[in-house]
Amino acid sequence: MNCASLSERPLVVKVKYQHTLARDIALSGVGLHTGCTTTVTISPAPANAGFSFVLADGSRIAATPEAVRSTVRCTTLGSSTAEVNTVEHLLAALMGMDVDNAVIHIDGEEVPVMDGSALPFAQAIARAGLREQHVPRRILELNAPYWHRDGDKLLVCVPSQTFKINFFVAFPEPVGNQFLETPPLTPEYFLREIAPNRTFGFRSEVEALYRQGLALGGSLDNAVVIDRHEYMGPLRFPDEIVRHKVLDLIGDFALLGMHPSFEVIALKSGHALHVAAARELRAPLRAAAGAR
Ligand SMILES: [Zn+2]
Repeated sequence: MNCASLSERPLVVKVKYQHTLARDIALSGVGLHTGCTTTVTISPAPANAGFSFVLADGSRIAATPEAVRSTVRCTTLGSSTAEVNTVEHLLAALMGMDVDNAVIHIDGEEVPVMDGSALPFAQAIARAGLREQHVPRRILELNAPYWHRDGDKLLVCVPSQTFKINFFVAFPEPVGNQFLETPPLTPEYFLREIAPNRTFGFRSEVEALYRQGLALGGSLDNAVVIDRHEYMGPLRFPDEIVRHKVLDLIGDFALLGMHPSFEVIALKSGHALHVAAARELRAPLRAAAGAR
């Protein structure tokens, strides 16, 4: 792995107020990998609390890059005693819908996959509405370009007044090369253009996961499955794959605990690279705050 360190410390610029949910939201469904049905209850949280998960045994896991235990197939957060899997689409919905603070109670080990996208979470957040918290939003600005590379995967963050994403993927047919350039992200754009896009996998990989006891809750109802050179079902967007990659990136950057104010250029990157970048982008701020 190869990375460029920041030449100067990122700035935290305080503008715009933080938001939390106006009321609780509860959603139930099967977990993609465990196949178990769980319920998540997303509740308002105080200003500066960020996102955290509370598990059935009462243990709390803050949604930070440092809490990431695995990025294989999904993003898993953990503490010394507990883990919660497949957090990325729920976190993407929270960040994409402009939520700064929320606590998520879960009665199992995996967030429900729902329809494989962030849409059910985002729609529920839209229905619940947001409450302004009269505390300035924490914004992460860069004062120098930042980049992080792993083999042929590259992530570049460029200083900007807004958060926008340019994403390029290259897969075998029928996906091929896809590129998406978003406008500055807003909840309206996220809900309409990003949230509906489903997770995806190649049939051969999915069958291998089954044999390993993974993807037990996976089906054509909650994933885009690709068999040889065809999609095994209709797409929601012709470029649904790259749109889902943008969704995943937003979920991974929700771990920053701040709203990004920079432009992202992502080439074939995935959860591992995104989380590593989030960890590095936060590092100077954690050091400045004396965090361990
Ligand atoms: Zn995903």
